[in-house]
Amino acid sequence: MARATLDLPEFMPGSVWLVGAGPGDPGLLTLLALHALETADVVVYDALVAPAILKLARPEAALEHAGKRGGKPSVQQPDITLRLIALAREGKRVLRLKGGDPFVFGRGGEEGMALMRARIPFRVVPGITAAIGGLAYAGIPATHRDTNSAITFVTGQASGGALPAAVDWDAVARGTSVLVIYMALKNLDAIARRLIAAGRSADEPVAIISKATTAAQRVIETTLAAAAKDAAAAAIEPPALIAIGPAVRLRRELNWLGLVPDKVGALQR
Ligand code: SAH
Repeated sequence: MARATLDLPEFMPGSVWLVGAGPGDPGLLTLLALHALETADVVVYDALVAPAILKLARPEAALEHAGKRGGKPSVQQPDITLRLIALAREGKRVLRLKGGDPFVFGRGGEEGMALMRARIPFRVVPGITAAIGGLAYAGIPATHRDTNSAITFVTGQASGGALPAAVDWDAVARGTSVLVIYMALKNLDAIARRLIAAGRSADEPVAIISKATTAAQRVIETTLAAAAKDAAAAAIEPPALIAIGPAVRLRRELNWLGLVPDKVGALQR
């Protein structure tokens, strides 16, 4: 395989790799992510990592789920970092695998800082974040000369589930014409109202992209005023992204996935 000619870094025992697994489609993994999966002794993964990706781990690797377990609350963040440190101190090659990119709404920063404080060597491997992968698979360009030359990625939910207090929605509304909101389903009605109150048009095009780049991907097109109602009516499930603004209209001319006979299903096999 061509990979043999690549000079990929060695995954050293006693180190941690913080790796982004991308939004779902295993084809969107980086070569470094694949190399880590094929080399790791233990894979500590989040709920958003697709099962098809975990199957790429070498058969001897231990798989540890660090997300929600059977309805129980999430494993606490300090517990995860302590676990990573303990595994590394046992001399394991520890792959910390996260959905999308580890540094985009993924707490990779917290984990990296804890590893740094513990003097555990680690590497960060970026992944395709859900907004980039999701927009591409929905046929919506993130930027386009006719519509927007800037884009905002923002979270719609604070760690407790409420609308994040740290986000200045008036500034977000004014900042860029295209917005992509992560974790927005729960607070969609409140977010839409805030944006409209801050001057965004109620008729603005919105795309709700659920389970992007997986076989179960769904995209619905709506407007800012109707988004929450339409998401509920269509029983949209998480994980989902909300894309708002004029670039969404370009989907009519760019929905390439509708032309590919097997759709994403082929990619999941
Ligand atoms: N680190 C991740 C984001 C984690 S936050 C990244 O870079 O993508 C979790 C949020 O990401 C979800 O609530 C959802 O808004 C978004 N998300 C992750 N995977 C997704 C997918 N396949 N389709 C749609 N949204 C996704």
